[in-house]
Formats: sequence, C-alpha cells, structure tokens
Amino acid sequence: MGIIVQKFGGTSVADPQKIHNVAKAVIREKENGNDVVVVVSAMGHTTDYLIKLAKEVTPNPDSREMDMLLSTGEQVSIALLAMAIQSNGYEAVSMNGQQVGIITENIHSKARIVDIKTEKLQKHLKEGKIIVVAGFQGVTTDGEITTLGRGGSDTSAVAIAAALNADRCDIYTDVEGVYATDPRIVPNVQKADIISYEEMLELARVGANVLHPRSVETAKQFNVPLRVRSSFKLDNLGTLIIGVDNMEIYKPVAGVAADTSQVRILLANLPDIPGTAARLFVALAKNNISVDMIIQSLASNGTNSIAFTVDAEDITPSLNVLKEFQASVNGGEVLIDEDIAKVSIVGAGMVDRPGIAADMFRALAEKDINIKMLSTSEIKISCLVEKENANNAIKALCKEFGLESEDIAVVKGDLPNV
Ligand code: ADP
Ligand code: ASP
Ligand code: MG
Repeated sequence: MGIIVQKFGGTSVADPQKIHNVAKAVIREKENGNDVVVVVSAMGHTTDYLIKLAKEVTPNPDSREMDMLLSTGEQVSIALLAMAIQSNGYEAVSMNGQQVGIITENIHSKARIVDIKTEKLQKHLKEGKIIVVAGFQGVTTDGEITTLGRGGSDTSAVAIAAALNADRCDIYTDVEGVYATDPRIVPNVQKADIISYEEMLELARVGANVLHPRSVETAKQFNVPLRVRSSFKLDNLGTLIIGVDNMEIYKPVAGVAADTSQVRILLANLPDIPGTAARLFVALAKNNISVDMIIQSLASNGTNSIAFTVDAEDITPSLNVLKEFQASVNGGEVLIDEDIAKVSIVGAGMVDRPGIAADMFRALAEKDINIKMLSTSEIKISCLVEKENANNAIKALCKEFGLESEDIAVVKGDLPNV
C-alpha cells in the first residue's frame, strides 16, 4: 500500500460523464490498496473563458483580481469530482489550495510553490478518505490567493507528491503519453515509453505543453517517479519520466517542439562601448522580464545591434524599459517582430554526436525555411523561424531525425492554434 497522486486535466473533467470516468479511475487506484490524492484542473476551457470574461470587463485586469477569478475554475471541478466519488459509495473530501496549505510566493499569476502543509492531507488519508485538491492555486503567507501560471495543475500534483513522499505521480491527459512532438501536428509521431527528466524539462520549456515545466523541475528535484498517461485508456502505462542515470540508450533527438509565444526585439544603432549590453539586460531583469535568445552583431562604424526575444505578454513593460534605455545611451532604434516561432530539437544523445545542428539547419533549408536567429545548449538547438513555418519545420525535423512511427496517435479534444 502506497500513496498515489493522480492529476486530471481540463479535457478529462470537461462534463459530468467525464467526471464520472475520472471517479472510476480514482476508485480503481483506491481499490488497489493505495491512499489517493487527486488533483484536478478547471473543467474544459473554463480558464480561457474566465480570462476572456475579464478582458471584456477591462483590457488590463488587476493581477490579484485575476487570481481571485481564475482560481474559481478549479473549485468547481473539485466539488463535482468529490460528489461523483461519494456517489459510488467512497469517502471523498475536496480541498482548495488554501485549505491544504499550498504556500506560494507573493506573486500573482505565476507564483512558485514554496511549501505544502501535509497535516490535513495526512489526517484525511488516515481516515481512509480520497482527497480531491484544486490544482493551479495556492495561498501566500498573508492569505492572498495566487495561481501558478497556465498549465500549473501539473506542478500542484507533483509538488503534493513530493511533500507526501508519494510512490508515484500520474498525470492523466487527453493523449497517451509523451510523444516526440505534439501528435496533433504530426499524427504518426513516435510515443516514448520512457524519457529522462532532463529531456522532458527542456521539451516542456521550449513549448511541449503536455507538462508544465515546473512540474518536471520539481519531479527531478525530489525524484518523484512521474507518468503521463491517458484518461481514456486506463490500462495503458503511457510514458515514464525518470532520472538521466537510469537511461540506457539515447536517441540523438528525443523530441521537437515550437513556442509561438515570444516576440523578437531588435535594437539597432547602439553605441559600441563597454557596458551597453549590461545596462540593457540589467534594466530588463530589474523589471522581472526574462530574456530568451540573444544575438549581438559585429560592430561597424562605432555602432552595433542587439536582438533578443521576450514573452509576448512582456512586450509593454519591455518597451517601457527600452524607452529609458534609449534615453540613457542616447541612441538606438527599436524594431519589433511578432511573426516568430522558436522551433527546438532536444536530446541528451546529441552531446557526443557532432553534426546534429548541421542536419537541423539543412532539413529546414530543404523546406525553404529561413532561420532568423539560433541558439544552442548542451541538449537543445533552437531556431527562430516565421510563425507560419512552425508546423512545417516540426514535420521536417521529425522526418529528419527518424521520429515518425507506423502508428497514428489518438487525440481527443480541439486542435491547438499553433
Ligand atoms: P491537460 O488539460 O490534460 O493538462 P494539456 O492540453 O495541457 O492537457 O496537454 C496535453 C496536450 O499537450 C495534448 O493534447 C497535445 O496536443 C499537447 N502536446 C504538445 N506536445 C506534446 C508532446 N510532445 N507529447 C504529447 N502531447 C503533447
Ligand atoms: N486551469 C489552468 C489552465 O487552464 C491550470 C491547468 O489546467 O493546469 O491553465
Ligand atoms: Mg496541461
């Protein structure tokens, strides 16, 4: 008998029938003799709907009030799931983030979990109850409600699993595991039976939204065995995510992903003097703006230019910082390019195989896809391309690196707007 944490995403609890299916999956785990904690997301597209609603009220909603609003989505699904479990004759109790004691930083809309109180969870488990916890939300030490960022219920589940020292954390979703890319873009892409935390973390960071990046970070940090599996095919084991040391074989490329949520900012005609880049990036960092790719051109005629990418949602604060920066260096022209997608390949096996980058660039060139910027790290190569080329780039790279399979992935739900 162990402790199992299960997490069900929005599509898995989209309507009463699906909530009953989830109840069955939960009871099955309880019947296996385990203590069960279930984390759920808001039903279907509730979070998108609430965001839309807020923006209809005001274009720039206050972030504290947004968290008050968005956290209600999960509160609906926990109560309904607890009722569904109870209707099958099992004891269940729903708990929101505050009731559990999921303590976060004092930041709205993308707070990090800093502590999880386990006393109440342990007490309910001891009494034989199934606990249904609201994902995506927490509370500050001052009692303010916070949310963890889009997709954050995965992180709630893994963090609870770590706090309870659970035997496993199962992330149930609308696909059968982790594929080498989004199966909605390449339906015949290979599914992984096993993938390392390191590769999964990079993939999640570069746009594979099957897992919230911080959930993988937390699983790696606390060594939580993590599975991604199907809510609709409960017997399938899906994909196991484990530490790099336990992996025997690496493919050079484990996965491909695209991120269409960034914009590129080009600063031209900057003075070519020491401290220019430092001044720029210190000012951005002070304003909590994360910068991803950066290139600086070779100087000519005493000037140079710097291009970098930021999240599209940081564009307004970035432009404010740039205005002050331009005044302080007495120059620089700003150009914004929103028509970009960052396409990345990830693989722990690329470390000692030369030529992977060359293969990537050639595969893109053969499809006439222009590379606007590129960056590499130990297990990842990213190319910035035009947005409309993102899906073709993904398809070309899956073919190039042998990531296609005979099987067609079964995908439920709507198509993503990549
Ligand atoms: P949930 O609501 O269960 O959290 P998400 O929509 O957040 O589900 O994540 C599941 C989706 O992630 C899938 O439907 C799929 O389209 C997408 N996805 C993107 N990249 C991958 C990948 N490499 N493997 C599997 N799914 C992926
Ligand atoms: N409901 C939240 C979202 O849609 C959190 C989650 O689903 O993980 O982003
Ligand atoms: Mg998700």
